[in-house]
Amino acid sequence: MRAGLVRNIFVTHLHGDHLYGLPGMVMSILGRRDILSGLGEKPLNVYGPQGIRSFLRMALGVASFRMPTKSALKINELIWPKEFGPQSLRNRHRSASTYWNHSIKRLPFELPGRDINAVKDSEGRFTYQVTQDDAVVEKAPKSKRKMRRDGVGTVVAAPVLHTVPTLAYCITENKSSQRFDKEKLLQLGIPTDGREEVRALFQKWTAGEKGMWDGKEILVEEVVQEGRQPRRMCVVGDTYDADGATHIAKDVDVLVHEATLMAASTHTARSRGHSSTIGATKFAKKVGARRLILNHASVSYSERKMRAMEMEARAMLGGNKAYVARDLSIFSVPTKVEDNEDFTFRRFVGFADTREFKDPSGNPFSGDFEVGEEDDAEGISEDEFDVLKADDVSEETEDEETPMLVDIEDQPVLRDEIERQNAIFTEQIRQNVMTA
Ligand SMILES: [Zn+2]
Ligand SMILES: [Zn+2]
Repeated sequence: MRAGLVRNIFVTHLHGDHLYGLPGMVMSILGRRDILSGLGEKPLNVYGPQGIRSFLRMALGVASFRMPTKSALKINELIWPKEFGPQSLRNRHRSASTYWNHSIKRLPFELPGRDINAVKDSEGRFTYQVTQDDAVVEKAPKSKRKMRRDGVGTVVAAPVLHTVPTLAYCITENKSSQRFDKEKLLQLGIPTDGREEVRALFQKWTAGEKGMWDGKEILVEEVVQEGRQPRRMCVVGDTYDADGATHIAKDVDVLVHEATLMAASTHTARSRGHSSTIGATKFAKKVGARRLILNHASVSYSERKMRAMEMEARAMLGGNKAYVARDLSIFSVPTKVEDNEDFTFRRFVGFADTREFKDPSGNPFSGDFEVGEEDDAEGISEDEFDVLKADDVSEETEDEETPMLVDIEDQPVLRDEIERQNAIFTEQIRQNVMTA
């Protein structure tokens, strides 16, 4: 996805490793807005815990960042439920709140944002309705081109436990992404010759309204292609206990859950407010996630260690359902049909990963590979796996390879190659989005 097309940013919590890149990212996105015709005056929505508004206004304001419109940005804060979490977390929240500055003026290009409260249900569970009509959710536009640019889903959130207020976000694809099944329509006596009353019916369905034909109601589920039911994905922020998000993550197609350390270091991970592969896989099982992507692996972990982590998580979850995300990894969310056809979860990897994944021809820039049985078989032996696992307890970092840092401006050949790879990479993503 091109930066200028981003409409919404969801921030899980305000720790530096999740926040400090935000002002630069917002500037990059807004800076590319003017070259796009499709987005018009629609603002970039940023969602996050309380404090994000002060932070962004300060960061963009002192840098004299300007936009030619008055409606480029909207900063929405999710209000932390006061009674949620242990006292220690509430204390941290209170001390951070002394730095929020409500007297910082709204930026000249900023629309007033929303303050979103969590709704508590009868079972004591909290849910935020994050997106409203002004954000992601929109009626299906007429042309396909617009469909991709406009809303793709509905987002809800729930609080999870970490050392500071942290949110899990769950996105459900809009019905507009569904495709109608011609056979099913004909069986129900609905003609598919594009006549006016049928088109009106389609519009009703895609807008989530009741569809009536021949005097009886027909549910949209009855007429869409199988496997094209809206996909759901949940991204849990840093956490040592994601139970607060169980109800929104139920039966998701893809769950992104952190695993900072391997199972042997579960205690260490938890004591720092994080999860190991155990916590992540347990939660994935609990909610019945079809796929699990583990993120936030410790920076001290080598590529081989992350592979071992992947093996460990797969062993706990059963099958090939778990993947460890590396920097710049991109995953596609499979539809149920693809899943049934033994769909290999495709992982595109950008430049940051390629150092470890040389292809047989020796090209250090091989842009993508697939994760599969073979990959595992030739990857790590049982003996090595045991060593990597045991090694985790001591958390030694001495034997880790120092990352290769190069200034690409000084190396035109390398720079050109990166640019070439980026073009291929972008094309792969584009095709991936088109087929998704
Ligand atoms: Zn954190
Ligand atoms: Zn973190």
